[in-house]
Amino acid sequence: MLFVEKYYISKKNYMKRVSELLKCVFDVAPLSRQESYDNSGLILGDPNLMVDKVLVALDVTEDVVDEAISKSCHFIISHHPFIFNGLKRINSSSSTGRIVIKAIKNDIAIAAMHTNIDNSSLGVSYMLAMKLGLRDLHILKPVTGKMFKVTVHCKDNIFEDMKKILEDNHVSDEPKGQVFSYNADNEYYMNKTLEVVVSEETAVLIMSALKHFSSADFRCDMSPVCDRNDNAGGGMVGLLSEAMEEKDFLAMVKEKLNATVLRHSAFLNKPVKKVALCGGSGFFMLPDAKCCNADVYVTADVKYHDFFDADGSILLIDAGHFETEQFAKEIIADCIIKKNSNFAVMISEVNTNSINYFV
Ligand SMILES: [Zn+2]
Repeated sequence: MLFVEKYYISKKNYMKRVSELLKCVFDVAPLSRQESYDNSGLILGDPNLMVDKVLVALDVTEDVVDEAISKSCHFIISHHPFIFNGLKRINSSSSTGRIVIKAIKNDIAIAAMHTNIDNSSLGVSYMLAMKLGLRDLHILKPVTGKMFKVTVHCKDNIFEDMKKILEDNHVSDEPKGQVFSYNADNEYYMNKTLEVVVSEETAVLIMSALKHFSSADFRCDMSPVCDRNDNAGGGMVGLLSEAMEEKDFLAMVKEKLNATVLRHSAFLNKPVKKVALCGGSGFFMLPDAKCCNADVYVTADVKYHDFFDADGSILLIDAGHFETEQFAKEIIADCIIKKNSNFAVMISEVNTNSINYFV
């Protein structure tokens, strides 16, 4: 079970580079797993900036930037990217513009860990499943689409540079060097092999980065290997330790998520045992939840007509976007703390929920 204190006191002068802190999260949730429409990673600032603390938030609002300034913190990592679509103007007429201006003035770097964390087996939905006490977990919708094996054979003298290219492209698997081959004259030749399995997009990035080396020093192959990864993807499905009545399950979800209200489809009047869930806007995975015979599907941002799609076969629950994703902060903080036990990681105290309830 992950657990994060609110505030870790740093050792005096204990500094880390922004890029080093980002890598701690990428090791768990590689950037290559983000969706094509997303904007995860370092959005604003210098990856070489040295910082002595990081503020972790769900969203970057002006209040969160003010919080960072008041805590003398020069690095913010949020779950949602504060710049999502293209920015044509950076001025004080929009909150995004004001955030950019204020962050630059105060030398604050800002990064986001969004769908790369959503698609991680230890990501937002995993945390939600843990909070609800589910067991026997597996990913609801594993990543599909072609993965590619990139194999690089190279000479000793450029091995470290080659390895760095793979790491710079956010490949999570540690590339392994090994004795590979000898040339026709039996002289020690391209004796190192680097092999990784990545998305097509990342494979193309790697191949183009390798072009800076002399073709006499390395050989590179790229081949499709599989189209399903059970360790990455969206949502989670698992079992309650004991079956519950539907109303009791709703009450438990409301309490664990500290939710003001839950919206749900018609009761099926049968016990709940198998639970599918997805933090945030996960309605599109309702067919997957039905397919695995889940009794309920917990997600957020469900529209009026969407509830009809439950169609008497599953209890569809909208528990709120903020409420189902609030634990993303713990995941990000935990990734950093696990590798830097004395580094100062602060969880934002600003409530960034954009939705208010009148009850
Ligand atoms: Zn979200």
